[in-house]
Amino acid sequence: MKVLLFGAGGKVGSVLGPKLVEAGHAVTNAEKGKKARYRGQDAAVDFTRPDAVRANVEGCLQAGVPCIVGTTGLGPADLASFDALARAHRISCFVAPNFALGAVLMMRFAAEAARHLPRAEIVELHHETKLDAPSGTARATAESMPGDVQIHSVRLPGLLAHQEVLFGSLGQLLTIRHDTLSREAFAPGVLLALDKLPQLPAGVTVGLEALL
Ligand code: NAP
Repeated sequence: MKVLLFGAGGKVGSVLGPKLVEAGHAVTNAEKGKKARYRGQDAAVDFTRPDAVRANVEGCLQAGVPCIVGTTGLGPADLASFDALARAHRISCFVAPNFALGAVLMMRFAAEAARHLPRAEIVELHHETKLDAPSGTARATAESMPGDVQIHSVRLPGLLAHQEVLFGSLGQLLTIRHDTLSREAFAPGVLLALDKLPQLPAGVTVGLEALL
C-alpha cells in the first residue's frame, strides 16, 4: 500500500517506517508544518503528538485517505470528529491506544479477572518524555473493568512502556503485567491494521482487539 506516515522522525515512527517498507509498503513521510500530499495515498499512519494528531487525521479523512492512529491522548470529541468525517467520506479510521499484541492480551486478561476479583488498581509506567497521563492503554483497561479503577502514572528515565493491573483480595494478590521492551513491538499491530483497513466499516474502529 502507499502509506503517508506522520511522525516518521519520532521514537515510534523511526522504528515503524523501515518496518513498513520491509513489509512491502511504499512510505511517504509527512513533513511537519507542510501541507501533506494526500493524492494517491491508500492510508495514513499517525504517531505524533496529542496536540498535532487531530489536524493531521482530519486533513487525511477530508481528502478521502483512511487512517491508522497510534497517537494517544485523544478524547471523545476527537473520536467523534474522526467518526463523522470518516463516515461522510465512507472510509475507515482505526485508532488503537496500544499496538503491542501482548498489551491487548493483558487488557483482555484484566477484564476477565475483574469479573471475579473486583478490587483492582492500575500502575502504568512510561519513559519521562511521554506527554499524556494516564496512558491511553491504562484508560482503556480501566474502562473495560467494572467500577472506578484508580490509575497511578509513573514517568521515569529508563522506562519504555509498562503496565501492571493489581487485583487485591482476602489473603491474595493477582498481578497481570506487560512490558514493552522495544518499539518494534508496535510494528506487527500496525501492519495488521493496514491489512484489515479496507475491510473495516466506515467510521472509527477502536482497539487492536477488534482486528484479532
Ligand atoms: P516522539 O518521539 O515525540 O515523536 C513524535 C514525532 O511526531 C516527532 O518526530 C515530531 O516531530 C512529529 N510531529 C509533531 N507534530 C507533527 C505534525 N504536526 N505533523 C507531523 N509530525 C509531527 O513521540 P513517540 O514516542 O514516537 O510517540 C508518538 C505518539 O504515539 C505519542 O502520542 C505516544 O503516546 C504514542 N504511542 C502510541 C503507541 C500505540 O501503540 N498506540 C505506542 C507508542 C507510542 P518534532 O520532534 O520535530 O516535533
